[in-house]
Amino acid sequence: MIQIDLTGQVAVITGGSSGIGLATAELFLRAGASVAICGRDATRLEAAKAQLTSQFADAQLLGVQCDVLDAKDVEAFAATVSERFGRVDMLLNNAGQGRVSTFADTTDEAWRDELDLKYFSIIRPTRAFLPMLRDAPAPSIVCVNSLLALQPEPHMVATSSARAGVLSLVKSLATELAPQRIRVNSILIGIVESGQWRRRHAAQAQDAQSWEAWSAELARKKNIPLGRFGRPEEAAQALFYLATNLSSYTTGSHIDVSGGFARHV
Ligand code: NDP
Repeated sequence: MIQIDLTGQVAVITGGSSGIGLATAELFLRAGASVAICGRDATRLEAAKAQLTSQFADAQLLGVQCDVLDAKDVEAFAATVSERFGRVDMLLNNAGQGRVSTFADTTDEAWRDELDLKYFSIIRPTRAFLPMLRDAPAPSIVCVNSLLALQPEPHMVATSSARAGVLSLVKSLATELAPQRIRVNSILIGIVESGQWRRRHAAQAQDAQSWEAWSAELARKKNIPLGRFGRPEEAAQALFYLATNLSSYTTGSHIDVSGGFARHV
C-alpha cells in the first residue's frame, strides 16, 4: 500500500458522520491529516466522533453540526474550521442522499428539493471554503457523485437528472479554478453499503431477511459484474486519491467506483 503522510494538512468532509464520509474521515486521519466533519444529526455526529477518537487517540478532529443546505450553517462551519485549524487543503463534498421516484410520482416540490440538495450541497461548501483553499499549497475539491450521472435509472429520475448536472458543474469548477491551482474532481458511485442502504434494507427486507442476503440478492438482480455492493472504504480510497497529490495532474475528471456496473465504453 502506498504510504502518504498528510501531517499538517486539513481535510473537510461534509456528511462525515456515516457511510462513505465516515470511512473517508478514517482514511485521512490514518494518513495524519487534521479532519473536520459535519452532519445534521447531533447524535450521529457524536457517535462518529467517538468512534474516530477511539481509533486514533491523537486525532486532530473537529465535528460540527451543520446542514450543508443552510448558508449560515455552512459559513459558521467554515469559520470554526478556520479558527481551529487555520487552513483547508482538501474539501470533500459528500453530504447527501438519493431519491427513489419515477417521473409520474415526482412532484414539483420533490424536483426542487432534489435539485437543491444535489447542487447546493456542492455550491455552498465550495463557496465557503474557497478562500482557505486558495491559500493552500496544493488544494483540491472532490465531489461524491453517482453513476446515475451517466447512466440514469427511471426509478430515480430526479436524482439521475441532478447528478448529470453535477458532473457538468464539477467540470466548470475545474476549469474556472485551475488558474488558482485548485483541482476539482468527482467519483461516480454505483451501490456502496452505507447508512442510506441500511435504511432501505430496514424498510424493504421481507421476512427479516438479513442484510447480507438482501444486499447479495440485489447485487445479483442488478447484474453488478463484481457481484456485490461496494464498501465505504473502497469509495474513500478513490476520494483519497483524487484529493491528494497522488493525482496532482488530474482535474475535471472522475473515477468510477461501481464494481463494473457502468455499461458505457
Ligand atoms: P449515509 O446516509 O451513510 O451518509 C450520508 C451522510 O451525509 C451522513 O453523515 C448524513 O448525516 C450527511 N448528510 C445528509 N444530508 C446532509 C445535509 N443536508 N447536511 C449535512 N450533512 C448531511 O450515505 P452514503 O455514505 O451512502 O452517502 C454519501 C454520499 O454518497 C451521498 O451524497 C450520497 O447521495 C452519495 N451516493 C451514495 C451511493 C450509495 O450507494 N451509498 C450511491 C450514489 C451516491 P445527517 O443525516 O446527520 O445529516
